[in-house]
Amino acid sequence: MHPLSKIYVAGHRGMVGSAICRNLESRGFKNIVKRTSQELDLRNQHAVHDFFGYEKPDYVFLAAAKVGGIHGNNTYRAEFLYDNLMMETNIIHSARIHRVTKLMFLGSSCIYPKMADQPLKEAYLLNGYLEATNEPYAIAKIAGIKLCEAYRAQYGSNFISVMPTNLYGYGDNYDLQNSHVLPALLRKFHEAKENNASSVEVWGSGTPKREFLFADDLADACVHLMETYDGAEILNIGTGEDISIKELAETIKALTGFEGEIVWNTSQPDGTPRKLLDVTRLHSLGWKHSTSLQEGLQKTYKNYIAQLELV
Ligand code: GDP
Repeated sequence: MHPLSKIYVAGHRGMVGSAICRNLESRGFKNIVKRTSQELDLRNQHAVHDFFGYEKPDYVFLAAAKVGGIHGNNTYRAEFLYDNLMMETNIIHSARIHRVTKLMFLGSSCIYPKMADQPLKEAYLLNGYLEATNEPYAIAKIAGIKLCEAYRAQYGSNFISVMPTNLYGYGDNYDLQNSHVLPALLRKFHEAKENNASSVEVWGSGTPKREFLFADDLADACVHLMETYDGAEILNIGTGEDISIKELAETIKALTGFEGEIVWNTSQPDGTPRKLLDVTRLHSLGWKHSTSLQEGLQKTYKNYIAQLELV
């Protein structure tokens, strides 16, 4: 990418898109195109087509998506499938029509089968059944991967796909019902400490394991790969390390200073037992994460408190 290349970051107000914008700006890219969902409804085919025709971006980061944690995925099953399919189809198709030089599609580690071997190699895509709670979201993301593959095969489009692991960081969603586990626990333990509560409820059994990547690290990997990777194969982006939900809860409890009890609500689903990404290929392409979970948690917690003080 040239410093003046026109770069469209779809989803620039989300945790991932905003981290990509920060990373691009820190590397000196100045010509970043952004649209809020009020300005441009990415589910609207004509609107997206007109936008690409008007702006003619050179590069596209497709980080716009309807996302949520285990409850959101399982509850808004139709929206997670429809909205994500529409957004990615419209953007990928318009990118081809308007001759975008290169597009990066951001998928998710939930595209891999529920019972796949660990760590998850890119080759495991579509070799087994998906996890039920996030199947609609995963199907939409798999369709995005296949669109990029098919447009590359039929039209020669340089569209690449990356699969981030579970993410956390600045500007995350802290809604107690619909967020992912890490922001949900930061908020729950923080509020319990503030209110001198005696216990905090954590969902499931605590035995599932998850890998967590700081969103600013993901953004750095995405920009690095946009500049260096032109392959047809999907690429995992993670740390290669995971911890149990129980360990995560204990770590966040200690971080917030809460001294009460953890109560496990086993009526809530556990989801996939484990989804640790194999990051061998990512490392071989010259990128490795730099923020440890402990450091990322501290930064995120500080940011969460700062946001609360603004309200
Ligand atoms: P997943 O990675 O798609 O399963 O999504 P989540 O981040 O929502 O959940 C990960 C794991 O954390 C699951 O086993 C949840 O049951 C567990 N978990 C424990 N407490 C919470 C909570 O308060 N919110 C969420 N979202 N998950 C929780």
